[in-house]
Amino acid sequence: MAKKQFKAESKRLLEMMINSIYTQREIFLRELISNASDAIDKIYYKALTDENLVFNKEDYYIKITADKTNRTLTISDTGIGMNKEELENNLGVIAKSGSLAFKNENELKDGHNIIGQFGVGFYSAFMVADQVTVITKALGSDEAFKWESTGADGYSIVPAEKETVGTDIILKIKGNTEEDQYDEFLEEYRLKAIIKKYSDFIRYPIKMDVKVS
Ligand code: ADP
Ligand code: MG
Repeated sequence: MAKKQFKAESKRLLEMMINSIYTQREIFLRELISNASDAIDKIYYKALTDENLVFNKEDYYIKITADKTNRTLTISDTGIGMNKEELENNLGVIAKSGSLAFKNENELKDGHNIIGQFGVGFYSAFMVADQVTVITKALGSDEAFKWESTGADGYSIVPAEKETVGTDIILKIKGNTEEDQYDEFLEEYRLKAIIKKYSDFIRYPIKMDVKVS
């Protein structure tokens, strides 16, 4: 008989992850860029076997937009996107593979050494954001959807407007408290340094746009 998952696990894992790896919050950007790159790869590989699909290299890129006024950081890609079902399956279940559980256990025992070696995934966005919005349109679909969550409390999915195929991940960057600084994740020099450190190998262009007002 297949093992059933405890429902509470997602919530607990998310809280554990947010609390255990805060020392390297910056890796959220590596995770989101790697997902964006994976999403473009999926179109690339599809184009290899689908003669109706042409992969024009210049149409595929990742774009980082920081908006200081609204405290949002948006990671956009022109990748394969997600339909409603995929949104539900891919972003609705935390640590489905169990690899995140493994990582968390090890990180708790072993400080933060292991963090750099494993992907922690989409949910690492909640280390720096108190709200995450995903607006996405799947390849071959004319419907777009918006997934939104403020963390462990759950998520909503509603129809949305989006012209082009791909995904926008919009992070509402946490406000400042005395102990924590998150403003750095809206600063161009800081974002560039993080991208250089972790995402130098990404084979699609990473564009940057910083809005000051
Ligand atoms: P992993 O990348 O290891 O599968 P993540 O937590 O990073 O785990 O992402 C979960 C899933 O969500 C991905 O496997 C993918 O199916 C989907 N996903 C996340 N970001 C995107 C994106 N930008 N475009 C399309 N699908 C995405
Ligand atoms: Mg990933």
